[in-house]
Amino acid sequence: MSEITPDYIINFLSDIQPNSHSFIQDLEKYAHEKEIPIISFEVKSLLEFLLSMHQPNTILEIGTAIGYSSILMSQYLPKEGKIITIDRYPYMIEQAKYNIHKAKLNSVITLLEGNAQDILPTLKPYFDLIFLDAAKGQYQTFLPHCLRLLRPGGLLIADNVLYKGMIAKARYDIPRRQRTIHKRLRSFLWDISHHPELQTSILPIGDGVALSYKKDPIDSNLI
Ligand code: SAH
Ligand code: MG
Repeated sequence: MSEITPDYIINFLSDIQPNSHSFIQDLEKYAHEKEIPIISFEVKSLLEFLLSMHQPNTILEIGTAIGYSSILMSQYLPKEGKIITIDRYPYMIEQAKYNIHKAKLNSVITLLEGNAQDILPTLKPYFDLIFLDAAKGQYQTFLPHCLRLLRPGGLLIADNVLYKGMIAKARYDIPRRQRTIHKRLRSFLWDISHHPELQTSILPIGDGVALSYKKDPIDSNLI
């Protein structure tokens, strides 16, 4: 059940989705059984659309889980395309390695193990696309790294930014223990919406997804 979009709309959209490749379907089934928070079908189709259009060669993903979104994105890369994906949770790392190997994608997807906070400063520009899908409370601290690592003309996509709709509620209407995330995520959304280098659109699909285009100075009208 989504807190953001009415169920009848989601059911309709879900019904008209084309079937995924059987390997992708198996991963979806596994993730749903184990309650692993992979991207929603709406975000899946949005990623497929954006990747087809944007044609990135290099992708950075923060938050691998079992490798579902990485494996999905790899299907839209050109031959020499590469994905670097980061996760810190040993259980997920083990599953992701297994799935990437099984999909014969070892030469395409590189899994970096550890906290993104430590790994991001060690990475070198540029990436054509960054997919941010990790701990929501940290998006704000990841943002300067994402901006440094993303090429002008690149795309930053952040998942789960509406936090089950909670982000739109007043601070006092949400449980105390979630207020820090609420505050940090709001500040992230504010920053990406007002950053002079970014053109951002926040979509209320899935659990909320933010799309930010890093303006290219060549495109002088945009600055
Ligand atoms: N992108 C995946 C789902 C990712 S779920 C998919 O759609 O298939 C979020 C993942 O982010 C979890 O596996 C969690 O371990 C990882 N994560 C959260 N915070 C992190 C951090 N600071 N550094 C590295 N990994 C992190
Ligand atoms: Mg997500």
